[in-house]
Amino acid sequence: MESAPFEYTRLEGGKKHYSTSLGGVMGVKDVSKETWLFVSPHDDDACIGAGLWIQAALAAKVKVCLLVVTDGRMGYCQPMPRQEVVETRRVETYESCEKLGLDGSCVKYIDYPDGGLFSLQGRLAAEERPEIDDIRGFVGLQNAMTYHLRTMRPARVFVPTPTDLHPDHQVTYRELMISLFHASGAVWPELGAAIERVPRVYEMAVYCDFSGPPNLQLLANQEAFERKLESIAAFRSQEQIAKLVENVRGGGPYEYLREVAFHLYTPGDYRPLFGTTGQRSEM
Ligand SMILES: [Zn+2]
Repeated sequence: MESAPFEYTRLEGGKKHYSTSLGGVMGVKDVSKETWLFVSPHDDDACIGAGLWIQAALAAKVKVCLLVVTDGRMGYCQPMPRQEVVETRRVETYESCEKLGLDGSCVKYIDYPDGGLFSLQGRLAAEERPEIDDIRGFVGLQNAMTYHLRTMRPARVFVPTPTDLHPDHQVTYRELMISLFHASGAVWPELGAAIERVPRVYEMAVYCDFSGPPNLQLLANQEAFERKLESIAAFRSQEQIAKLVENVRGGGPYEYLREVAFHLYTPGDYRPLFGTTGQRSEM
């Protein structure tokens, strides 16, 4: 008997739940009604961290979107004009996505300067950074991310773990987290209608370990694994890419995700610390 192309395991409460259904492992009946957004600080991060999850989602008829945050201008290995670097990487990105089965129309760019995201945190009036393309009169990652979240309206969002060393990865993670709350609130109505609920968030590992143990495993068949490797190899202008492909090959057809739990303040969570006695009358 031929094995399923994708097999999933979810860790929950010390137990392992095995499934061959993506909806099953994500705890939803019909995953094909969902949009999933992969946020990639650089064009190659999503296929390295989640090239198998992207294929699995597409196979399950999920609407998959890719949002690339930077323009890739710092990713050159030979001296060349900035615009040539950006254009070369753009062509490679679409080729990489095609290997995963992701249509180019599902790829959007924030297009901020590679290596310079720290200076574009928050939200600024467009005239403060005239060299940056604005959205509705503002620039900054929180403005752009809130706009794209309200436009794409994903049920689930995937982003490289904040433990990665690259500052662009750390900034992307932080700005995305607050933007999820902006997008589902009433602020900045010119960026679109608020999304109904805060999407579920998953960390993907690209270069460094997760910030805590992952709770989802995907095991893919050899065909899907080869496609992931080809999608990474498409970034051939990156001269170190062959070595990276070999490293990923050595890891085998497995990918992991860590679901992020939001810890929002509730006073009741702290009450047990102080006991049930010690009321006002005893003071
Ligand atoms: Zn990156």
